[in-house]
Amino acid sequence: MTCMTTLTCISCGVEAPAPDSAGTCPVCNDPFAVLDVQYDMACVQANMTSQTLKQRPMNHWRYAELLPVHPDKTAFTWPVGMTPIINAPRLANKLGAGSLMLKDDGRNPTASFKDRASSIAVLHALQQGATHIACASTGNAASSLAGFAAIAGLNATIFIPYRAPKPKVAQLMIYGANVMRVQGTYAQAYDLCTAQCAEHGWYNRNCAINPYLVEGKKTCGLEIAEQTASNPPDWVAVAVGDGCSIAGVCKGLTQMHELGLLEKLPRVLGVQAQGVCPIAQAFETSTLNTKGHTGTLADSIDVPVPRNWKKAVACVAKTQGDFVCVSDDQITTAMKQTATLAGVFAEPAAAAAVAGVGQAVAQGIIDPASSVLAVITGNGLKDIDRVIKITGQPNDINP
Ligand SMILES: *Cc1c(COP(=O)(O)O)cnc(C)c1O
Repeated sequence: MTCMTTLTCISCGVEAPAPDSAGTCPVCNDPFAVLDVQYDMACVQANMTSQTLKQRPMNHWRYAELLPVHPDKTAFTWPVGMTPIINAPRLANKLGAGSLMLKDDGRNPTASFKDRASSIAVLHALQQGATHIACASTGNAASSLAGFAAIAGLNATIFIPYRAPKPKVAQLMIYGANVMRVQGTYAQAYDLCTAQCAEHGWYNRNCAINPYLVEGKKTCGLEIAEQTASNPPDWVAVAVGDGCSIAGVCKGLTQMHELGLLEKLPRVLGVQAQGVCPIAQAFETSTLNTKGHTGTLADSIDVPVPRNWKKAVACVAKTQGDFVCVSDDQITTAMKQTATLAGVFAEPAAAAAVAGVGQAVAQGIIDPASSVLAVITGNGLKDIDRVIKITGQPNDINP
């Protein structure tokens, strides 16, 4: 049973009627005035305890009270979440951190963190009687939605930018989605998707302005809390594009702390790429500057106009957290180090979180004695051309 109550606007605080899918504040008339799902925390406290959690499935539906949908028996078998946390002492040593854990979300069904949001979207769409679901994505949200739409038997139409990496496109095609490759940017694909959803009445999975989906991403934070409860890390690092993922992880940690299920609230570190760092700047200035975009090889965080920057900035500030920016060179180095020193194959955007830990130590933000957890948001097989460029070819020899 969900303990969800109302939705409030992150900008003006007004209580808004629950939108069918995506929706922003009806009062503010501002595309960045996103909605935030509220819960009756007494209801959560009474029903979700360390005792009751013990009897629940080892996937993210175990947090039913803190989800915006009623999980049903079908969804309980969708194996999302409860991804492992791996101790990475050699990588910690290399980065100069006291200790380092990696939460490997590349082990979700379609190999990225986005499965947490897509599973919620698909269940929410089914429960509202929708037969068609759509999204615009740089890749992972798309392949994830295609996978969950296939599990649930929904039609999916997906708008991707021209430069989406081939392996992600391959996932879309094999899952049977209707794929529209927009000969333009992510921003253009996004606007087109919004317009088409309105025109055809499709369920809109665009995460940034669909308030329910951040709640799915939140389960990563709930899990980190449950998995590390008696010994939580000092810092949790997350790569940031649109801002939904970090806002979700951060909200999950905060709620578990509020419930007394997490002893100490970790500080949250947002990591952006140097060529696309509007949220890191907004954290300092409180305003969003969308100019100066030069891009990054980490396609999943190449988001010049982040729709969820306010939620991200507000929650990170609440944890006494911070933001850093890393270069593409730092990202490729982190990809190699994460693989060779911890055995985890991360895609560039996921490796950015690891690079950010090194950067934050170098800037004196993270104390060298600190314990850190980095969320590995996507698997390295998502972008193999890039990987071969970094590693070079194998030795070809005669038998
Ligand atoms: C989407 C994504 C992110 C960033 O999430 P946002 O909600 O856009 O901030 C980070 N890493 C990977 C692998 C992703 O797919």
